[in-house]
Amino acid sequence: MELKVIQDIVVPKATGKTMRVKKGQVFRVIEHEGKQVVDLTFLNARNYKEHFAAEYSAVLNSLQGIGGYYRLSKLYSKPPYENVMATVTDDSVGGGARGGDRAGHFMMCHCSKRLVEHLGSPGARTCSDNFADAFREIGLEQADTYDETIFNVWMQSWISEDGGMNFAPPLAETGDYIDFLAEMDLVAVISVCPDESSPCNDFEAKALRFQILEQEAQAGLETHS
Ligand SMILES: [Zn+2]
Repeated sequence: MELKVIQDIVVPKATGKTMRVKKGQVFRVIEHEGKQVVDLTFLNARNYKEHFAAEYSAVLNSLQGIGGYYRLSKLYSKPPYENVMATVTDDSVGGGARGGDRAGHFMMCHCSKRLVEHLGSPGARTCSDNFADAFREIGLEQADTYDETIFNVWMQSWISEDGGMNFAPPLAETGDYIDFLAEMDLVAVISVCPDESSPCNDFEAKALRFQILEQEAQAGLETHS
């Protein structure tokens, strides 16, 4: 598939943003300055109540043998919708080549005020702050969203046998990327995680790069809404 870049932005470290992705377009997340995670969710652009559900998607992918908590092929929306919102079409890290069984992503929550207190950084900026800013761009209050269930791109976390959470620096390096093919008109909601108190961003928050791409034949046909 020959893809043409139609939008290309760098989102500064420790900030949130939304981007609109039309059905059939590819949303690409690019590791821009080294090991940095992005906390990512999607909304149906025509119905903001229809929200990506990370853990639910992990279970559905697991039952189909196409992913789980550390990698997804299909991103599903929460009940009562249960639609495929996006399909992962290219994933240089999460294919397992570098991540082994853990595959290099994590389907769970984002950092918040209470979470960073327990990380030993009370008052630090969090993904929760970023998401509040990002949702405001499209007129939503964070309290009215379903944001604490996200695709943690490049977050190298796993559950140990006692049920505890583990954290390690991302396996991704500068230039690594992951592609999401939009299966409906979407709003991508982005938090460039500000955390500097855990290995999640290798102890230094960085910027990330995002692109919208279209197939060559599709580019130029801008009449569809
Ligand atoms: Zn975070």
